[in-house]
Amino acid sequence: MGQTDSYRHKGLRKKLVDSIRDKGIVSEEVLGAIGRVPRHLFMDSSFINFSYTDKAFPIAAGQTISQPYTVAFQTELLTVQKHLKVLEVGTGSGYQTAVLLELGARVYTIERQRQLFLDAQKTLGPLNYKPLFFYGDGYEGLPSFMPFDRILVTAAAPVIPQSLLKQLAIGGILVIPEGDSKGQRMIRVLRESEDQYQRTEHGHFSFVPLLRGKNQ
Ligand code: SAH
Repeated sequence: MGQTDSYRHKGLRKKLVDSIRDKGIVSEEVLGAIGRVPRHLFMDSSFINFSYTDKAFPIAAGQTISQPYTVAFQTELLTVQKHLKVLEVGTGSGYQTAVLLELGARVYTIERQRQLFLDAQKTLGPLNYKPLFFYGDGYEGLPSFMPFDRILVTAAAPVIPQSLLKQLAIGGILVIPEGDSKGQRMIRVLRESEDQYQRTEHGHFSFVPLLRGKNQ
């Protein structure tokens, strides 16, 4: 099986893109990126038949690869353009990272689970996806690399971390699911000036929690 991306995979991916379009994703750039990333290579090979159904799936360390629709939804809200500097909190499988790179972003991605931090590098490297990888607590962001044009959080926080708001460039956008294990709302925050932020809400989702500290 290895690293192959066959016609069968491409065909399944095309159907996945159609189903995500039917669910309301309109950005052709985002749909195009979903159509190009070989999602089956980001999941355990025994799950290959699940790769192109629109569902979240378990990866290592009790975490999940996000549902493709959710990845597309967050990416569309983020409005990524070429060369933008993007911080992703929660590398996980690296799938969302690849989607951001397909859109031409410069991606800084941080993961608190050591195993996933290592696995994602092994997956993305051979596919020629080149983000900057960090192992640490994304709750704190990456202060030495701020400001970021975009910040995408792929785990749920009960409140939006102040540290992330501070690391947003003026005119920058943060997308984060806010809430607890009972459910979350997708929040988009636009930093309008040094001290003004405009917040909007965009539907209900269910993510694994954003946790503090690192995990060996
Ligand atoms: N974008 C990922 C989604 C993974 S699920 C993908 O497409 O596969 C969310 C991830 O956030 C998990 O891997 C979890 O370990 C990570 N995470 C949770 N809290 C974190 C924190 N404080 N800092 C960095 N990563 C965190």
